[in-house]
Amino acid sequence: MSADILIIGGGPAALTAALYSLRGGCSVKFLEKEAIGGQIADSPRVENYPTISEISGLELSNQMFEQVTSLGADFDMDDAQSIEKTPQGFLVHGTYGDYEGRAVILATGVKHRHLGIPGEDKFLGHGVSYCAVCDGSFYAGKDVVVIGDANSALQYALFLSKTCHHVSLITLFDCFFADAPLVKALGDCPNISVTHCLSAQSFNGGSNLESITFQNTNTKELVTVPCAGAFVAIGQIPDNDRFGNLVDLDRGYIVTDEDMATRTPGLFAAGDCRKKKWRQVITACGDGATASLSAQHYLSVISSK
Ligand SMILES: Cc1cc2nc3c(=O)[nH]c(=O)nc-3n(C[C@H](O)[C@H](O)[C@H](O)COP(=O)(O)OP(=O)(O)OC[C@H]3O[C@@H](n4cnc5c(N)ncnc54)[C@H](O)[C@@H]3O)c2cc1C
Repeated sequence: MSADILIIGGGPAALTAALYSLRGGCSVKFLEKEAIGGQIADSPRVENYPTISEISGLELSNQMFEQVTSLGADFDMDDAQSIEKTPQGFLVHGTYGDYEGRAVILATGVKHRHLGIPGEDKFLGHGVSYCAVCDGSFYAGKDVVVIGDANSALQYALFLSKTCHHVSLITLFDCFFADAPLVKALGDCPNISVTHCLSAQSFNGGSNLESITFQNTNTKELVTVPCAGAFVAIGQIPDNDRFGNLVDLDRGYIVTDEDMATRTPGLFAAGDCRKKKWRQVITACGDGATASLSAQHYLSVISSK
């Protein structure tokens, strides 16, 4: 059966799009390939969602999920592999089946690139983070390390320097791949130190992170840097090439207008998967709401023809 609005993803953007669509009287189906909640389900503490002073990411996701399923959202665990335009709307091919929607919202998010070294998974939420805006306040007054050499790493370091005691910015190569004003701002900041040519080897500690071991890429010497927190900023990975037949992509991110419309009428995108500057839960939710309202408007226009 065709849903009025078929949503790809089960994170905050998708669940908000589902909420608005259901409240707008549309039938909704959403597909999630891994776990409901998306990235935020990995966060032990969220303190920047309005009206909730502190909540675990899992609990926040669960509440969003319960809200939409209690309103009648239908969902399947499946990985959307491709999408095609049909006379009736869209046909999404999943690993386990095909799904029809009169309009579709892509809310596929991103994955933060991981280093893939020992201790990284163990200390996630206990010292290792991929988001300074999200988790920086947990390390106020403490020493932290930022790993990365491009704009986001420098932005993380500058952001953290406002509240942390000391920030060590550590890069793999002997230079930055960042904008000049950011590099200058870094040099003007007294509690940030920079060390180049170190390759991260392991995160170490007991129940919480205590240090990181690096190898000097020139001398091969091992260096251990004590720290309470480590912020890994080595890039994010969108996964939207499979939808490239119907949407424009910019470095893998879906290009939309401010109404979340893609270049294909009836196909919208919301949240971290689209080309935009700020990737947070609240911005994903805002996108999801906008995408749903735009999809509802699209359906009302084509129904009246
Ligand atoms: C550790 C961590 C902590 C964070 N802390 C905070 C915080 O405190 N505050 C804050 O505002 N933000 C935080 N963020 C950022 C926030 O989680 C993201 O901005 C937000 O989750 C984006 O929502 P989204 O729905 O756009 O995408 P995602 O949350 O990435 O959700 C996308 C979902 O789509 C699914 N999916 C992808 N492709 C397919 C497909 N082909 N078929 C089916 N399903 C698919 C994925 O499995 C995923 O579940 C944090 C991020 C991380 C990683």
